[in-house]
Amino acid sequence: MSENKVALVTGASRGIGKACAIELAKAGYDVAISYAGNDEAANNTIEELKSLNVNAKAYKFNVADKDACAKAVEEVLADFSKIDVLVNNAGITRDGLFMRMSAENWDAVINTNLSSAFYMTSPIIRTMIKQRSGCIINMSSIVGQYGNAGQANYSAAKAGLIGFTKSLAKELGSRNIRVNAIAPGFIQTDMTKDLDTEKMVEHIPLKRLGQPEDIAKTVKFLAEDATYITGQVIGVDGGLVI
Ligand code: NAP
Repeated sequence: MSENKVALVTGASRGIGKACAIELAKAGYDVAISYAGNDEAANNTIEELKSLNVNAKAYKFNVADKDACAKAVEEVLADFSKIDVLVNNAGITRDGLFMRMSAENWDAVINTNLSSAFYMTSPIIRTMIKQRSGCIINMSSIVGQYGNAGQANYSAAKAGLIGFTKSLAKELGSRNIRVNAIAPGFIQTDMTKDLDTEKMVEHIPLKRLGQPEDIAKTVKFLAEDATYITGQVIGVDGGLVI
């Protein structure tokens, strides 16, 4: 059995989650990743993780499905024996003006981005309480703090994650479990590939879009170094929101 710490990162076949998994593996973590359906991307990520000489395994399930999350967490605990760091990262967008927003698109975004954090965290929290340590990182967004036209569903989910983060931090601090959120700005991934980013960059003080690695380094900081930080929302947006 490996002595390494163990991280579980949801939505880590691609994009930000993948970069987080790699950064944690570089810091010596064994890594369990989750994904929705993209087997090829998940397999590639696992190969990259294993080349860093850590244990790594992928779990395919829908984070919006409570029972699937519980079953997957059970499997991860059976395979890795513990979870030290949980990154609730998986997310989707279903953008559209509110006037035309369907209940289906509302539910899909709330369930995948917000309820998923509840579904993943609840089966893990008991083991973190027992081991009297743990770190939970929730992937929010600047739009959860400031809103965005065309993203009422997504902004509501990301704002919900901030309330979830602060409440859990208060409940679990005495058990040495830290809970924080990250609020990325515009990060170059599949999620943002269709946006017209040229105009956006003009408004970003650092004059570039973020890279998944910019978020991953913050995840590693929160997991490894931020021993007195809990209940915070760390903006990683190139200064877009100042
Ligand atoms: P991405 O490139 O679209 O990747 C999404 C990841 O989530 C993939 O691994 C995908 O798995 C997985 N996923 C999607 N739906 C899922 C479901 N129902 N069950 C399980 N896994 C699911 O997205 P990203 O840009 O890296 O975003 C990651 C997180 O950061 C999201 O929460 C997003 O809201 C947040 N964020 C992103 C930005 C940005 O600018 N990109 C900004 C702020 C916040 P498959 O590969 O199998 O589909």
